[in-house]
This record gives sequence, C-alpha cells and structure tokens, in this order.
Amino acid sequence: MSEENLSQEQAAIKNHLNFLSIGAGAIAALIIGGLVWLSYSDEYPFWVYIFTALAGVGSFMGAKFVVMAWLSADAQCKQCGETFAVSLADTEETFLSATPRKREQETGRSISGPNEGKRLITVTTWTEERYEVVKTFSCCCCGHSYQERSFKTVEANKNSDQIYRH
Ligand SMILES: [Zn+2]
Repeated sequence: MSEENLSQEQAAIKNHLNFLSIGAGAIAALIIGGLVWLSYSDEYPFWVYIFTALAGVGSFMGAKFVVMAWLSADAQCKQCGETFAVSLADTEETFLSATPRKREQETGRSISGPNEGKRLITVTTWTEERYEVVKTFSCCCCGHSYQERSFKTVEANKNSDQIYRH
C-alpha cells in the first residue's frame, strides 16, 4: 500500500486503525508478558525480566502487525482500490424478540442446619433479547457503500437466586 496521496479522511482512518492495532498489541503484550512472568518468575528470578520484556515487545509487534494488516485489508475499497478509504458509517439495531429464560443448576448440598440433606439449586432467570444489527460501511473516495447484517443476543435483566430443594 502506498503512503502518498492520502486525503485527510484517509489519514484519519489510518490513524484510527493504527490506534486500534496499538491497543491490540498492548493487550497481547500484557497477556503474553504476564504468562511468561508467571511461568518463570520462580525459576529464573533475574532472567524473567528479560524474558518478559522480550515476550512483551515481540507479542506487541506481532499482534500490532497482524491486526493492522487485517484492518487495512478491510479498509481498502473493493470498488476503487483506495487504501484506508472504507469506514463504518452507520450502525442500526432492530429489536426482534424477547424470550424469558430460566436455568436451574445444582450447586451443592446442605450438610447441616434446618436444610440438612437438601440440594442447593441456583436458579438463574433472564430475558434473551435478539437484535438484528445492520452496519453500513462507505468509501470516502468513491462513495461506494455496502451493508453487513448480523444478529446479536443480549442477556438482559439477569437475576439469580439460591433455593433449597429435596
Ligand atoms: Zn472507493
């Protein structure tokens, strides 16, 4: 991809993608660095600093590169071929349905007291809400736009209660 001739809008999209990929790199560095730290801090009290730093820098660079490449591919317009041209223009959520749900799970057994011998049941209730999500992407260079349709499920009003039962 060429760096020259980016319009102001394209530069803004590129900055935004850079920002997202730096965030992804930072999360990867925290996770991988943290794992290395936990795995080696007892065995190698001195070297673990170097291991952690290397793993952190390596996973930061790797994740940033991969995420940036992935986002950049999405941001290239299929119509006019411009890089950093396509961005999310609009998100629309349409409510589809609300279904009451209930789940019972045995979480233990009382071994003393007034409920001795009874099973402890955790009853969870919630409302399962379904939404249709339509995302509209558009190109800032040629105006080409397309939509992506997906569904989203939200567990709303979650409540859990514990009861004893024979
Ligand atoms: Zn375009």
